[in-house]
Amino acid sequence: MPEPLTPDALLALDRQHVWHPYAPMPGRADPLVVESAAGVRLRLAEPVEGVRELVDGMSSWWSAIHGYNHPVLNDAARGQLDRMSHVMFGGLTHEPAVRLATRLVEITPEPLRHVFLADSGSVSVEVAVKMCLQYWRSLGRPAKQRLLTWRGGYHGDTWQPMAVCDPDGGMHRLWSGVLPEQIFADAPPPGFDAEPDPAYEAHVRELVARHADELAAVIVEPVVQGAGGMRFHSPALLRMLREACDEHDVLLVFDEIATGFGRTGALFAAEHAGVSPDVMCLGKALTGGYLTMAATLCTPRVADGISRGELPVLAHGPTFMGNPLASAVAGASIDLLLSYDWRQEIKRIETGLRDGLAPAAELPGVREVRVLGAIGVVQLDHPLDDAGMAAARAAVREGVWLRPFRDMLYTMPPYITGDDDLARICAAVRAAAATAG
Ligand code: PMP
Repeated sequence: MPEPLTPDALLALDRQHVWHPYAPMPGRADPLVVESAAGVRLRLAEPVEGVRELVDGMSSWWSAIHGYNHPVLNDAARGQLDRMSHVMFGGLTHEPAVRLATRLVEITPEPLRHVFLADSGSVSVEVAVKMCLQYWRSLGRPAKQRLLTWRGGYHGDTWQPMAVCDPDGGMHRLWSGVLPEQIFADAPPPGFDAEPDPAYEAHVRELVARHADELAAVIVEPVVQGAGGMRFHSPALLRMLREACDEHDVLLVFDEIATGFGRTGALFAAEHAGVSPDVMCLGKALTGGYLTMAATLCTPRVADGISRGELPVLAHGPTFMGNPLASAVAGASIDLLLSYDWRQEIKRIETGLRDGLAPAAELPGVREVRVLGAIGVVQLDHPLDDAGMAAARAAVREGVWLRPFRDMLYTMPPYITGDDDLARICAAVRAAAATAG
């Protein structure tokens, strides 16, 4: 083992050489150096603001639902590591991937039945789009190659996903004229409990009808629009989309990469609506946040359609497809989730977030506090800009890791977060909001 780097040396090299998400090069920010993580705690290499251990309020962007260094997931990884860490998936198969795919089919809505094991959320969306376009080509309708979504969404950073991210976000401005031009409905009316809005529904139905001949699919994040703004909408809109798609022969894709595996209080957000998509994308919490893996599921209708084409195979095959380590850990993570009353835990966290974040609504500069399942958002009435860093530091002083974003402070804690730590997270969100207001 090489000599460990001092935190200062590590940060100097990081700044020089290492890209971070949405960051310049050479780096300008001072990321905190994490030494280890266990349970809901991140241990820093040295104290920051006098604090060495932070309660994680982010689940590493929705994924570490069981916390870090979990003995069950560690055992699954170790056990698989001793057998094989990776083999190519072309021409070979193995038990961890087959078990995982079978498990995913069992727990996702009928009639999703076929599973493509991708290597990241963005790639699973690329695969979903390819499935839909290829389906229509196979059926002799190549004009059906566009996508419809609603504003405010986020589906990943590769090409097709970027084209259906919120069109007012930076990505569209940067790539205007280069990204495929997709069709955008207005953002869904806000609120999980929002009353039906007939004018909005008519607007979406009209767009689907008008573009039916060129539409391959409608793609949305069901119930929660995540990185595009952390907005919630009524599950009834998903039923409306299903009807519109069926009426006009358009496929429906649900991107459950953020919402999947219990986060909203249902195992998959589609369940709030009792609606099943033709294609579903999963990622993030699939491996309990341990390893990079995602999945695209589709129905027999989609798979059979593709099989009837001139090229009767799904034209995609990444090197690390079906990675045995990730598959084994994903299988263990799903079993772990389903082994306890996770719904009760999400309800407990929801109540804790509601109680703990409510006082933030009284702070200057706060527009709204909203909570759904294990997701809490404090929306400001102004962008954070440079105050984002100070807000994150305010949370660190409270012993909590948060990643303020645009005009929001938000948390999506691991499901194992105890009541005391949850209260601490809420106090940190309030402190960060007070700094930013
Ligand atoms: N879709 C949604 C809804 C997401 O939240 C994300 C990640 N934030 C992605 C797709 C992309 O996933 P990944 O970052 O693993 O590529």
